[in-house]
Amino acid sequence: MGRIHIPRGASDVMTVLALDGFDSYVVGGCVRDSLLGLEPHDWDICTNATPVEVLETFAKRGVKTIETGIKHGTVTVCLGDAGEQYEVTTFRIDGEYSDSRHPDSVSFTPSLREDLARRDFTVNAMAYNEVDGLIDPFGGEKALRDNEISCVGNPADRFREDALRVMRALRFASTYGFSIREDTAKAIHQFAPRLSNIAAERIQSELNKLLLGSGVLQVLLDYSDVMAVIIPEFAPCIGFDQKNRYHEYTIYDHIVHAVANYTGDDLSVKVALLLHDIGKPQCYTEDERGGHFHGHGVPSRDLADIVTKRLRYDNKTRDEVLTLVLYHDSVIEPTYNVVRRWLNKIGETNFRKLLQVRMADIKAHAKDTQASRIERCLALHDILDEVIAQEQCFSMKDLAIRGKDVMSFGVPEGKLVGDTLRHILDTVINGEIPNEIEPQMQAVQQYLAVCAHE
Ligand code: ATP
Ligand code: MG
Repeated sequence: MGRIHIPRGASDVMTVLALDGFDSYVVGGCVRDSLLGLEPHDWDICTNATPVEVLETFAKRGVKTIETGIKHGTVTVCLGDAGEQYEVTTFRIDGEYSDSRHPDSVSFTPSLREDLARRDFTVNAMAYNEVDGLIDPFGGEKALRDNEISCVGNPADRFREDALRVMRALRFASTYGFSIREDTAKAIHQFAPRLSNIAAERIQSELNKLLLGSGVLQVLLDYSDVMAVIIPEFAPCIGFDQKNRYHEYTIYDHIVHAVANYTGDDLSVKVALLLHDIGKPQCYTEDERGGHFHGHGVPSRDLADIVTKRLRYDNKTRDEVLTLVLYHDSVIEPTYNVVRRWLNKIGETNFRKLLQVRMADIKAHAKDTQASRIERCLALHDILDEVIAQEQCFSMKDLAIRGKDVMSFGVPEGKLVGDTLRHILDTVINGEIPNEIEPQMQAVQQYLAVCAHE
């Protein structure tokens, strides 16, 4: 197991608390990640000082504090020149959860063990300080060694209290490639329906981490029922036999393999892969050659629109996801003209993401159908890189001429100017004329002459 090295700022916070006679520990995710040999992204501190005592301890030494969640026991301490922030939370016990979401009340306790006992999973229920070393009453370190997620205490009780833990269990399993212990897994299946009471933002945040985790394949395969709770549109995809020579998987299993095939860290690509075929069941037809899903990009996009809105994805992510889903299956010939046209239509960033989506999708198809499609995808990539490197023109802003050039032929400001520029851009994208002023002015003249005749 890795060692726990408390960074300077957190250690200073703990030293100050000790000066006033309080105990404190780093706790939760930072202990877990340190033991795994990973760099923690934040250091949470827990203490037997009450929130008011924490405020006083730092205020009297001129250290800035923020009353983050006094009711829940959390004070943020701002230390150091870089304004680093540390959350300091009083040991607490959560009260009843009548809504599977928030504890109705919390009460403070002098006992670290009681604080650890309210935490969700054994790997998250460890604390550490220099004096006492690792405090691990529930076997968190062993669980890390066994690559296992298991609840602290009775799993059914824990998921009944807070259904978000269902998503958190899947998220940790995916992030670390861990398995979920049998009793915990059973309770997840049992309590998954209660996720429908949980705020969409919180589900989205766990889902994103789940999707980006290295163990996503196994988690999504094992917990399709959970996915169908948070995204009910998946229900018809699960177990759907595609009866098609391109596919050896059901729709859902194909989707999951495609998600796992993309190992980059772009969330839009991951979400697009998750939703790329979600509309397939709606457009299934069958003939003597088997099953078909003609035009499934459109219903998939429409469902992706509904799903991403419900899960409260931001507009930029949604726009990207919808574009990627709509075009994931479009025929794109690997030629310069076609690539420039696509760049004009969706832009470089989305086109690059689209190629990622297609590659991951193709690799989740039947093995004997992949080779030629992978070749085409690679060829598109090469052409794309070349078009960009050569700064070839594919958008209005790259065009050699401007509106004023069109108007120099006596065209008044208005629609015809835009139409003319658009026509010239099309001819440049198609490779008919170069992106230079002279030939474009000639083409403008010809176009205007044709327009005058019509
Ligand atoms: P991350 O690396 O994503 O920050 P984390 O484990 O630190 O992971 P947080 O959401 O920051 O996760 O929560 C901090 C700690 O609080 C957890 O390690 C866990 O001990 C506890 N915790 C968080 N959410 C819950 C919950 N829903 N139920 C019980 N304990 C929780
Ligand atoms: Mg954390």
